[in-house]
Amino acid sequence: MDQKINRNLPVLLTLLAFTWTYLPSFSQANYLEESWKKQSEPLEIRILNFEFQESSNQLLHSFSPWQQTNFSTSGEIWSKAHDFSKIDTLLSNQRIYLSKTVLSQQDLLQQNYGKEQLEPLTKSQFHDQVFLSARYLPHRTLSYFKEHHPPIERLEEKYAVYSLQINKTTVKLFIDKETFLLSKIQTLSHDELFGDVETAYTYSAYLQIEDFYLAQHIEIKKINGKLLDQVDISQAKFTDSRPQLLKRPADYQLAEEDPISASVSTSSFNEHIHLVELGHTDDRALVVEFSDFLLVAEAPLTSENGELIIAEAKKIAPDKPIKYFVFGHYHPHYLGGVRPFVQEGARILVSEHNQEYLSYIVHAKRTVQPDRLSLHTRPLQMELIQDSLRISDGEYSMEIYLIGEKSKHTIDYLVYYFPKEKLLFEDDLVWIPFNGESKNVSARQTGLYQAIQDLGIEVQTIIQSWPVSDYGVKTIIPFEELEYSIKHIKQ
Ligand SMILES: [Zn+2]
Repeated sequence: MDQKINRNLPVLLTLLAFTWTYLPSFSQANYLEESWKKQSEPLEIRILNFEFQESSNQLLHSFSPWQQTNFSTSGEIWSKAHDFSKIDTLLSNQRIYLSKTVLSQQDLLQQNYGKEQLEPLTKSQFHDQVFLSARYLPHRTLSYFKEHHPPIERLEEKYAVYSLQINKTTVKLFIDKETFLLSKIQTLSHDELFGDVETAYTYSAYLQIEDFYLAQHIEIKKINGKLLDQVDISQAKFTDSRPQLLKRPADYQLAEEDPISASVSTSSFNEHIHLVELGHTDDRALVVEFSDFLLVAEAPLTSENGELIIAEAKKIAPDKPIKYFVFGHYHPHYLGGVRPFVQEGARILVSEHNQEYLSYIVHAKRTVQPDRLSLHTRPLQMELIQDSLRISDGEYSMEIYLIGEKSKHTIDYLVYYFPKEKLLFEDDLVWIPFNGESKNVSARQTGLYQAIQDLGIEVQTIIQSWPVSDYGVKTIIPFEELEYSIKHIKQ
């Protein structure tokens, strides 16, 4: 008996090894392989050509939080295997702008709307095209997955799900188990402002052209579903030739991603007012020193910048806690670094216009790129500003005014007034050139002047947060110069 088992053991082991090695990968490879055959393989040898209509929405530096700007474009695409060429036009203010993209296995060339020159692009931007091009056509994403053959991550009732890390993004494919067609691509990546952001590309209205399957309707949900883009494809056919949309210059190169080297310098305007300049973002934050606490205003773009400003505040007054953090308006150059201040236990000053937005940013998940607040959470403390708020230690004081839409820039706009110094600190409303006279005065500049008049405050000096040295404008401005510009320069 024992001998018989021993004799059969090698056979059994071989069989077992075969089963382990081949069976699971056999069943796992199926969905991906089949999907690739339907949606990618036919393009290995043929050029697909189609037209598209696109509606995309973006959060620009707009008037109020979550306000979307819509762009409608239409164009034409030619694609074969790794190659992808796109030409499209954007209609804006009655003018037509042209854009071109040429993507190959080694290169990415892009000419943006209304530009003559090629965009300077990085290797990272090129690598991300593996999934970004799935906005129109997912064949490159499928090919990439087939080459890297990840195991099935999970089987859902309807879908087989595969997952891969591409560059800094986690990409998941959802393949329909019955049709073997790609139903959805989901990506998870880091956004400086919003933390973990999920983008979902959903494919529908499949059309069969010979042995190739093309989704004619693509919906793209961005920023965890906050924004929805749509692409509609028509006139799809195979073709023998494609135009050369862009010529690759001989010296063209995709750049390496440069790590940002931070530069920070702090100067004191007087014993209460300290200015922290971040050279790498061209911003100026404000640290106000009271007898037993600090207030910090503005923290640009990232949690890392917030940390840099906190470190400077601690150098200025090591024993004084940061009791308040305030941002002049919700744009990223003033709010992007708020999270470490929440972790410090600072009270965040908000208005009804931005408290939900602030709360979203503070409560956003940060698993892709954790920061101090995501590692050591602390409850958000907010204090609501109605029209104004006075911060004082009994002797020294500052006043915060909500000028809102008078700024002609954002609905939540705040300015800070220091009565003792007759000084006003604001973010980005005044644009007076260092050299020569302004040609005209912006609505923002007029808006600030009017707001100061309406508040009835006496201002001698204005200090501006951004820009500090780019753009060649003054950022410490005598009030007479603002007044002169309003009274003597065309608006
Ligand atoms: Zn702004």
